[in-house]
Amino acid sequence: MSDRADIAIIGAGAAGLAAAIFAAEAGAGRTGPRIMLLDGAKKIGAKILVSGGGRCNVTHEQVTPEDFSGTPHLVRNILAAFGVDATVRWFASLGVELKREDTGKLFPVTDRADTVLRALLNRCQTLGVEIRTNHRVLSIMSNAAPPTDPDFVIRHDQGECCARRAILATGGRSLPKTGSDGHGWMIAQELGHTVTPTFPALVPLVLAPGMFHVELAGVSQEVVLTTTVTGRQVDRRTGSLLWTHFGVSGPVVMDASRFWTKAKGEGDVVEMRSHFLPGMNAEAVDRWVRDQGAETPRRSVAKLVAMRVPDRFATALCHFLKVEPSTSLGQLTREQRRRVVQGLTSLALPVERDRGWNYAEVTAGGVPLSEINFRTMESRKVPGLYLIGEMLDCDGRIGGFNFQWAWSTGFVAGRGAAKSLSA
Ligand SMILES: Cc1cc2nc3c(=O)[nH]c(=O)nc-3n(C[C@H](O)[C@H](O)[C@H](O)COP(=O)(O)OP(=O)(O)OC[C@H]3O[C@@H](n4cnc5c(N)ncnc54)[C@H](O)[C@@H]3O)c2cc1C
Repeated sequence: MSDRADIAIIGAGAAGLAAAIFAAEAGAGRTGPRIMLLDGAKKIGAKILVSGGGRCNVTHEQVTPEDFSGTPHLVRNILAAFGVDATVRWFASLGVELKREDTGKLFPVTDRADTVLRALLNRCQTLGVEIRTNHRVLSIMSNAAPPTDPDFVIRHDQGECCARRAILATGGRSLPKTGSDGHGWMIAQELGHTVTPTFPALVPLVLAPGMFHVELAGVSQEVVLTTTVTGRQVDRRTGSLLWTHFGVSGPVVMDASRFWTKAKGEGDVVEMRSHFLPGMNAEAVDRWVRDQGAETPRRSVAKLVAMRVPDRFATALCHFLKVEPSTSLGQLTREQRRRVVQGLTSLALPVERDRGWNYAEVTAGGVPLSEINFRTMESRKVPGLYLIGEMLDCDGRIGGFNFQWAWSTGFVAGRGAAKSLSA
């Protein structure tokens, strides 16, 4: 087995597999040495298999730059090269039909993530892409000295190999047991790239023990969640919050979590507040409680609140606010009413910490997009090196956006690298 490749791709996750397929389809490795995928894991695709609750949320019906935290005009250009329609057609060509759910998320019709992984691996095999598992890459040396063609020496834990182009697709640090442990950033740094501070995103949040989340575990409700950093609102979004035994999760919390983890990582004062009656401001809620008090003075405050939020939450909130749930509206003091209105419209969530890399779905931070040529994903620092997927400083919200980023960047880099070889 010769240890020379046209293109070596480091990391055979979603982005690396896509890049290999598109590079091979564009002609790389057809006549000369091959396309080689090196991965440190024993088995390929662990993250794809666990994604979307084992169903793999491949993309979303509508993907825009606003769905990502990343440099918007660069994200826009990359998505324009390979967007949702192209992704759906591509998966159909691989034999994977996608279906749309009410949320706009697209899943394989089989509801099985292994359908996606198998299709990608089959295509790699058909195209003659060589996949080497148990090959953890330790370092990459670039012999690029223009005008000579770039050349890379890739040292891994089984020896070394050479390649004319190298594509780094090592992911971030989320779910490290799948093989994505952040080492790829060190390789990128050794090659001259910078890496912005990284922190868990799409991660559940742990609340202080004094909060009432434990008794509500399993209850979910619609909220408006606001994140404030040193007094300035940095995020506000509406969606479903899930109470859990450790704190809070659910789409709205996962999406907002990056703002909390980033601020915390930067040592800022960060506060999260929840509004449990979306569509009503504090004044309207106050009026509603007063009007109801006049109409039905014997109704209990918990019963009233439960007209608009889950029963268990209504009772737990009253206890938390030190208002006896059975207090009749007629007996509710002005101070108690103020507490209830405040609790319903602006309850501070005492977030202690995020749940950490083992529970984060994605990594925020990474190699800045400004160091990449968005037309090819080639490094602006090292000719012949390409960087793709989660290792870049771009993270999407929940709903299939992070895989879309992997497919899109994989497409651009695969094509770009193949084209540069034939130039
Ligand atoms: C539980 C969970 C559920 C998710 N569900 C969804 C979902 O439904 N939809 C969605 O859009 N996104 C989802 N995501 C996010 C999505 O899985 C990732 O954003 C995406 O997989 C990133 O792809 P990637 O190829 O860049 O990195 P990864 O998938 O992390 O792949 C990186 C690969 O590189 C290998 N590697 C790392 N370092 C080295 C090295 N030094 N040498 C060799 N190989 C190396 C790793 O073994 C790994 O195989 C989920 C994430 C998690 C954790």
